Amino acid sequence: MAEYSVFSLIANALTGNRSWKPAWRAATPKPRYDVIIVGGGGHGLATAYYLAKEHGITDVAVLEKGYVGGGNVGRNTTIVRSNYLLPANSHFYEWSMKLWEGLSHDLNYNVMFSQRGVLNLAHSPAQMDAYARRGNAMRLAGIDAELMTREDVARFVPDLDVSPDARFPVHGGLLQPRGGTARHDAVAWGFARGADRRGVDIIENCEVIGFLRDGTGRITGVETTRGEIGAGKVGVAVAGSTSQVLSLAGIQHLPIESHVLQAFVSEPLKPLLDTVVTFGAGHLYISQSDKGGLVFGGDIDGYNSYAQRGNLPIVEDVASLLLTMFPSYGRLRLLRSWGGIMDMSMDGSPIITTGPLPGMYLNSGWCYGGFKATPASGWCFAWTIARDAPHDLNAAFTLDRFHSGAVIDERGAGPVPWHH
Ligand SMILES: Cc1cc2nc3c(=O)[nH]c(=O)nc-3n(C[C@H](O)[C@H](O)[C@H](O)COP(=O)(O)OP(=O)(O)OC[C@H]3O[C@@H](n4cnc5c(N)ncnc54)[C@H](O)[C@@H]3O)c2cc1C
Repeated sequence: MAEYSVFSLIANALTGNRSWKPAWRAATPKPRYDVIIVGGGGHGLATAYYLAKEHGITDVAVLEKGYVGGGNVGRNTTIVRSNYLLPANSHFYEWSMKLWEGLSHDLNYNVMFSQRGVLNLAHSPAQMDAYARRGNAMRLAGIDAELMTREDVARFVPDLDVSPDARFPVHGGLLQPRGGTARHDAVAWGFARGADRRGVDIIENCEVIGFLRDGTGRITGVETTRGEIGAGKVGVAVAGSTSQVLSLAGIQHLPIESHVLQAFVSEPLKPLLDTVVTFGAGHLYISQSDKGGLVFGGDIDGYNSYAQRGNLPIVEDVASLLLTMFPSYGRLRLLRSWGGIMDMSMDGSPIITTGPLPGMYLNSGWCYGGFKATPASGWCFAWTIARDAPHDLNAAFTLDRFHSGAVIDERGAGPVPWHH
């Protein structure tokens, strides 16, 4: 009987639910591991899972300074899509989409992946042209895309204001039908459980506070709040804390800025929004969770911070954009808002690479979009660590591109983190 199946549900229900095993062990650190992953977010846990599953490397520890799911993996608005223009991004994110499509079965854990579509709204003829170009590029790469007229959009999202006298009239949109949402904490728990079952030690409340190096400068382990731990290889996947953690190894300059991004959820409502909608004339994205709350967000706060909470002006900004698109939501009550620390790269694309020091591997630069990347990021980072070389899918996601100029700037926005 599979550990999580309808039969085990019935068997456990009949025995008072006293026989469930914890989803992962509370592991005690060993003196040394083949691989240490710093950061027990989605990316770190997925990396450990795929190291064990795809490469047979099971002598692995994931070190998390807080608790699993306490970082961005448990704080995001859960949008999953692969609607990119540039080949490096579109191939990588489409591989992630394919992994998402099989993830619940692979992990034997329901990550509630819901392919309800992601619709980008267009508000000018020029934006429609840009979407047609992006949609064509996606279809040529084998990715689903549908260009929608204003009438199509009105039928698809009845609550949206598509009237000609709207503040930003809707001209149409680009839909990726296979896009959607997933349950964020289930993704963290599913990968944690999957990695644990394959022998990985997940060690919570264990902050990395330094790096151990040999005489040649190679990283040989980490210093933590629970003592020193040796390692053959150390992967760093700490999202918004990347600059802080790498500074512990003496690296002071990275093409990353840390900014707060907030998210908001309304009181629960009956089902009314059956897709993800993004506003094309400003920055707003919205979907409805399975619990009924409208989940939405907008721009980063606009100044650098390591605080996991936001400031009030962006609340007003996001709320006003929401009402621009959906005036009928004006009487909704906001239930909660929260913030996460974003690792904004200078071109808006990620970094999955060997280095920057011998024995170290880096996974970072996820900006607004790292949740959807979680499976492919873990898969590619595991490959990179196991083989000491990137996979074709992440070969372009180097640190060196900021030196050589071969940046992957999807929007052509330049080195301005809040425009990506
Ligand atoms: C409000 C918000 C909305 C978002 N919406 C979306 C979205 O809709 N779609 C999307 O694709 N992406 C979205 N994102 C981005 C996405 O959540 C992140 O890019 C992604 O989760 C980052 O990877 P992670 O899960 O590994 O990060 P995290 O969960 O932050 O994991 C990093 C971990 O490293 C740990 N750590 C830090 N320092 C140390 C240390 N010294 N020692 C040990 N551990 C350490 C942290 O405690 C943390 O748990 C959003 C983010 C936020 C904040």
